[in-house]
Amino acid sequence: MEYEPVIGLEVHAQLLTKSKIFCGCSTAFGEEPNAQTCPVCTGQPGSLPVINRKAVEFAIKLGLATNCRIAPYSLFARKNYFYPDLPKGYQISMYEYPLAEHGFVDLTVKGEKRRIGLIRIHMEEDAGKLKHGETPEKAPFSYVDFNRTGVPLVEIVSGPDIRSPQEAGEYLRRLRTILQYLEVCTGDMEKGTFRCDANVSVRPVGQTKFGTRTELKNMNSFRHVEKALEYEIKRQIEVLKEGEEVVQETRLWDTDQNITVSMRGKEEAHDYRYFPDPDLVPLKVDDQWIEEIRKGLPELPDQKRERFIQDYKIPEYDAEILTSTKAMANYFEDCVRLYPEPKTVSNWLMGDLLREMKRDEKEIEHCLVTPKHLAEMLNMMKEGTISGKIAKEVFEEMYRTGDWPATIVKEKGWVQILDTGEIDGVIDKVLQSNPKLVEDYRSGKEKVFGFLVGEVMKGTKGKANPKLVNELLRKKLKG
Ligand code: ADP
Ligand code: MG
Ligand code: ZN
Repeated sequence: MEYEPVIGLEVHAQLLTKSKIFCGCSTAFGEEPNAQTCPVCTGQPGSLPVINRKAVEFAIKLGLATNCRIAPYSLFARKNYFYPDLPKGYQISMYEYPLAEHGFVDLTVKGEKRRIGLIRIHMEEDAGKLKHGETPEKAPFSYVDFNRTGVPLVEIVSGPDIRSPQEAGEYLRRLRTILQYLEVCTGDMEKGTFRCDANVSVRPVGQTKFGTRTELKNMNSFRHVEKALEYEIKRQIEVLKEGEEVVQETRLWDTDQNITVSMRGKEEAHDYRYFPDPDLVPLKVDDQWIEEIRKGLPELPDQKRERFIQDYKIPEYDAEILTSTKAMANYFEDCVRLYPEPKTVSNWLMGDLLREMKRDEKEIEHCLVTPKHLAEMLNMMKEGTISGKIAKEVFEEMYRTGDWPATIVKEKGWVQILDTGEIDGVIDKVLQSNPKLVEDYRSGKEKVFGFLVGEVMKGTKGKANPKLVNELLRKKLKG
């Protein structure tokens, strides 16, 4: 029997507000433990939460950008559970009345268009952080840092619409791109500002009913999400093939062993005793505010991609990659402004620049090659000052040092040889030392021509203008 996976993702994204969701404490990262706390976010009796308007605005932005319906009224609820990083004994979240519902995100996976539904986006507060350690005498201790307590989050719950680990990865990247375009979240999985729990089940192909799911946690990179899902899908299929049943539970991804391990049985909503938070009035969002926010939305990835295809006449594939981050898109447009040949620019960005960036795990913001560098280099190529081959080396050098192409070319003596006399000299030498090949060429063996061109280029250390070499060599061989 063939099985297919069904996946739904729950993403927590930290909103980039300066202050926390229900108090004025700073959300800045890296401060002394518990330096950013107050009676509200440490749950002192008698303190009262007040909603942060900016956090709501950011959540609405995301809702609109993902085609959700924004609820005119939503309600904060208490999700009750005990854990040492949760000083109130409950987390303020949303339950029956979330802020946004019924959205979707469009993707292209392996050339196929896919639409992933969003069930809901709701707002909630983050919990604190535990720090476990050992004293020099090997006595275990645990500290708790409440700086993160009360930092605003949105939880984005997808429908069970995802059909492969790769699609899950694409969905997450897309969602992160949207958050980054909106400038409401940094989207950094390693730092935990963008976190994902994955629900997965399998079912026989053709069956409409979903199978029993497990929920996977503890994946802090896109790669981990994909690997954990791959593992878990295989595991569930094996369980079913053995004639057994998948147990609904929460499982942890073990990064060392590359397996998922059972953590606890699945908790149910009724375990949390959700109820409306009596300290907070219903959150009212009127149409006027929604329209204001809608008008202020930036150009989003899908729109930008379509505009790039239209305006720059570049392939959809290029446009998709170039709009994968706002910074990359801006970089591309800056380059094209300086050197108006979009496809040439795109080739350099998608080839050389992205390759180097990937190798160094560098962001485009930190690249020493600026659009001005690239445009200057492309102009030198166009004017014939440097060959395409030299340009590749100039590029690497600029990438490494940030020096200007003209300076590099001058210092390295890489100026292209356009002097026919000098090239002729090298050709003579090459022909003299390859009499057999000259013979072959003259008796009709066209193939050796390429080799001879190569030898001449080598003889000029790659600096001769290839077009010129071709012309001069043919002339010589004829004569
Ligand atoms: P809970 O409240 O227990 O987290 P939800 O109904 O909110 O459950 O669903 C959580 C996530 O699980 C959603 O992303 C949803 O798409 C996904 N999901 C629900 N049922 C299944 C299933 N059978 N297989 C895979 N994913 C599922
Ligand atoms: Mg859930
Ligand atoms: Zn506080």
